Amino acid sequence: MEIGRSNRLAGVAYDVRGPIQEEASRLEAQGRRVIPLNIGNPAHFGFEAPPELIAEVARRLPEAEGYGDAKGIEPARRAIAAHYRGRGVAGTDADHVYVGNGVSELVGLALLALLNEGDEVLVPAPDYPLWTATVRICGAKAVHYLCDEQADWWPDLSDLATKVTSRTRAVVVINPNNPTGAVYPAEVLTAIAELARQHDLVVLADEIYERLLYDGAEHVPMASVAPDRLCLSFGGLSKAYRLAGFRCGWLVVSGPTGHARGFLSGLDVLADLRLCANLPAQYAVEAALEGYQSIDDLVRPGGRLLEQRNLAWAMLNQIDGVSCVKPAGAMYVFPRLHPSVHPVEDDRGLVLELLRATGVFVVPGSGFNWPRPDHLRIVTLAQVELLEEAIAALSDFLGSRRPY
Ligand code: PLP
Repeated sequence: MEIGRSNRLAGVAYDVRGPIQEEASRLEAQGRRVIPLNIGNPAHFGFEAPPELIAEVARRLPEAEGYGDAKGIEPARRAIAAHYRGRGVAGTDADHVYVGNGVSELVGLALLALLNEGDEVLVPAPDYPLWTATVRICGAKAVHYLCDEQADWWPDLSDLATKVTSRTRAVVVINPNNPTGAVYPAEVLTAIAELARQHDLVVLADEIYERLLYDGAEHVPMASVAPDRLCLSFGGLSKAYRLAGFRCGWLVVSGPTGHARGFLSGLDVLADLRLCANLPAQYAVEAALEGYQSIDDLVRPGGRLLEQRNLAWAMLNQIDGVSCVKPAGAMYVFPRLHPSVHPVEDDRGLVLELLRATGVFVVPGSGFNWPRPDHLRIVTLAQVELLEEAIAALSDFLGSRRPY
């Protein structure tokens, strides 16, 4: 009998890897060179984790043989709680923290504990596709609200308001944003909090890039402007601490919880069911949050990440028919291919063509649930020389397929 894919996976995709990755691996197996600008994996491009974090994990490794607490080890949870209190999220203590195998796992646990069949969740377009995929896996509906490219990719608040229905349970905010690199000002966050208040929505704040900020941009934690809402804030070690492979993230519950005991007991049972998160990585958390923030050196003038963002942004804007909003945070650019100059019907097909022709691997904008096939997402982690080579190849490729 044919073994089919579960119905729960209808409409579930992850183009950051997925079929395009398969093609990239096939090309590499043939001896072709691929420039992987598809995935925000700092270690790929020679970004080393802070050595003191590795040393701390190595030192504590013998203590990490057994299962640990399902919600995470106490010192890590205390440090995470203190971090949020220090950032203006009052009343957070270790009991409000769940440590998991990356934000990716915790989004799954949180949405599974929250959502019922037919519920709706407001998710940004474009989004980090984990969110849309996970909402769908839970049998709920991801309703996309638009972010406005003309307004630095901030959420379009009027569009957001029109998307609320009686079935809406939660609103997702990704700030700093993947894929756009937008960093939202306090007034945008306050307006979203107000909407959540009016419609009794749970606020889900993915803030994994909170420390990856350029040109003096300031990150305001969503939970700090929504103290009267049940808010789940997500963060972790993958990006600013360059420890993506350690698989360590956290979820912090804030705001009133008296009415959310059922949800929280669901979260507890799901955390219990997977016994515990990867334990060795948790020994890095205290040192990461409380120590010197080496990421600051990478995002200030002269720092690698800032220089690479500058180069990618400037080069893309020099390509005829391409424009790119300057990212204020994170590690991506999301350029637009103007349809009058670069007509594209199928951006997945375009990305495959680009990969086959040049070896440059980027992600189609539609993979981020952007509704039109006119954007690409490019990771800015590659060294300046490699980025320069890749964007020059993209420019030549786009020029070669122009109809006139
Ligand atoms: N959230 C966003 C916005 C991301 O961009 C990513 C990874 O790229 C994740 C979550 C996943 O993070 P983790 O490595 O903690 O699972």
